[in-house]
Amino acid sequence: MRRKIVAGNWKMNTTPAEGVELLKGVAALKGEVPAGVELIVGVPFTHLCCVKDEAAKAGIAVSAQNCADHESGAYTGEVSARMIASLGAKYVILGHSERREYYGETSRTLNAKMALAYEHGLAPIYCVGEKLDEREANKHFDVVRAQIEEVVFNLTPEQFGKAVIAYEPVWAIGTGKTATAEQAQEIHAFIRQVLAEKFGKEAAEQTPILYGGSCKPSNAAEIFGKADVDGGLIGGASLVAADFVAIAKAF
Ligand code: PEP
Repeated sequence: MRRKIVAGNWKMNTTPAEGVELLKGVAALKGEVPAGVELIVGVPFTHLCCVKDEAAKAGIAVSAQNCADHESGAYTGEVSARMIASLGAKYVILGHSERREYYGETSRTLNAKMALAYEHGLAPIYCVGEKLDEREANKHFDVVRAQIEEVVFNLTPEQFGKAVIAYEPVWAIGTGKTATAEQAQEIHAFIRQVLAEKFGKEAAEQTPILYGGSCKPSNAAEIFGKADVDGGLIGGASLVAADFVAIAKAF
């Protein structure tokens, strides 16, 4: 049985105090989430310290949304994997399309970030996904394959065993446009097949592959109902506790 995960990506939203309130709201409703569904909240760096205790109490894992591509030193404004791990986070979202698009993240920097994340005990939630023009040109399989081969293929089998993959079509993020459940299943199955080429069928079968892109309570059940969809990476809807929990209840 593969893990089922619903992870929120709060992006650059909420103050730390508002974040704690949001987390308390999720914790209060967590009893409604089916057993075996893991909840993760991807919070801004400034919130890691404040949400730590509340999250631990509620059995909700905490993720950062990025980490530095260097261990430590003269990198003004950066936050290291070691700092993140020291604040109790278990995950780090890496390769989100907003990081690739607005902050120039490449496979080279992502390889460095992945290595540092593992070194400090953080499991990556590694994001892949094509842009609209790439899908329209029928290049989405090639784009996603390259994003996996250039980064995930560099992991050891042991590291790979801890990775979570998130497929997020860029055209569906924050746009209200969702991939159909069939489109999600098609590419999730493809991702699993690519992972199997490198790590073997058994390991690929165990890997959680999340869908992200305008996932909400009204469409989650259909998407999560597909065989190769193991949950969601949720942006906008994760900022409303009841919606986030309703998505997790869609399993
Ligand atoms: C995301 O950015 O990870 C995401 C899925 O955003 P949204 O749910 O708002 O489309």
